[in-house]
Amino acid sequence: MEIRKHPLTGEYILVSPHRLGRPWQPEGTCPFCPGAPETGFGWDVLLLPNKYPVVTREPPTPGGEELYEALPARGLSLVVVETPRHDVDDISDLPTEQIEKVLKLLIETQKKAEEDPAARYFLYFRNKGREIGVSLTHPHSQIYILPVVPPRVEAELRASEEWYRRRGTCLHCLITAREEKRVVYQNASWKSFVPYYARWPHEVHIYPKRHVTHLTHLRRDEIRDLADALRKTLCTLKTALSKPMPYILVLHQAPLRQETPHYHLHFEIYGMYRPDGRLKYAAGAELGASLYTLDTTPEEVAERLKTALSQCP
Ligand code: UDP
Ligand code: ZN
Ligand code: ZN
Ligand code: FE
Repeated sequence: MEIRKHPLTGEYILVSPHRLGRPWQPEGTCPFCPGAPETGFGWDVLLLPNKYPVVTREPPTPGGEELYEALPARGLSLVVVETPRHDVDDISDLPTEQIEKVLKLLIETQKKAEEDPAARYFLYFRNKGREIGVSLTHPHSQIYILPVVPPRVEAELRASEEWYRRRGTCLHCLITAREEKRVVYQNASWKSFVPYYARWPHEVHIYPKRHVTHLTHLRRDEIRDLADALRKTLCTLKTALSKPMPYILVLHQAPLRQETPHYHLHFEIYGMYRPDGRLKYAAGAELGASLYTLDTTPEEVAERLKTALSQCP
């Protein structure tokens, strides 16, 4: 288990061969249900260590090879079980108060991570849908507390910093304030919109209207509003087509303990169905060249999601 660095692109590969042994869509048993060996009873939301981690508290020293760079896979891989109820399809089916509990658990976990100087990044993500390879369907999301900043965030940090250096403003604040025509949903403190630069067929970003860099800096009212914005936005993905949309949700925020006047936290959601209900695959152009092909327009997608909102209580 180690983190290898790609010498030509700066990407990282989390090498963890033991993950091959994890259960794959098991029938009849669920390790996240109440009463399972690791869960017990009497909880609303639960934080579990990932049994098949990609980073861990005491990692082995990487083997090391001439020419190449590898880092110890130091960190924490955690699973957030979002409800005791196994059969809930998505978190948009949960009451807002339950989503708020999940958010509070995340914030608490991130506060602890901030105290560890070796922890550089708090990555939170959620994969939804068997169609995109989710191994367990009990509602859950994941946390990787990492010793490195993910390259995609690094790229955003760099571009944002460059803008800030030249113009003295946060580009994210500007985008969020200016966005009108592709807005899917908004409340007092958050705005969901399909970005002009969407890369995936049903892509939505959710931004706090205030300049906030870290999840741990959100005010109480902003946490409550975030639960609402997440529920409403995910509900539009669920109801936009004739079947629930598989999606990937990821939190982009500043590296731990790094104050950034130029970088602004946001959630990115990639709904993976094209408008015709077919799964979008990343292939030659996307994986081989980082060239995204969009078989629709962000404007058209925003209209569809906005229409779907009327079916979301
Ligand atoms: N897992 C776990 N305990 C178990 C079985 C699985 O912690 O008893 C973890 C597993 O390693 C995996 C996660 O639960 O990382 C399920 O995540 P998901 O299917 O969303 O995505 P994956 O990580 O498998 O790509
Ligand atoms: Zn379950
Ligand atoms: Zn900002
Ligand atoms: Fe981003």
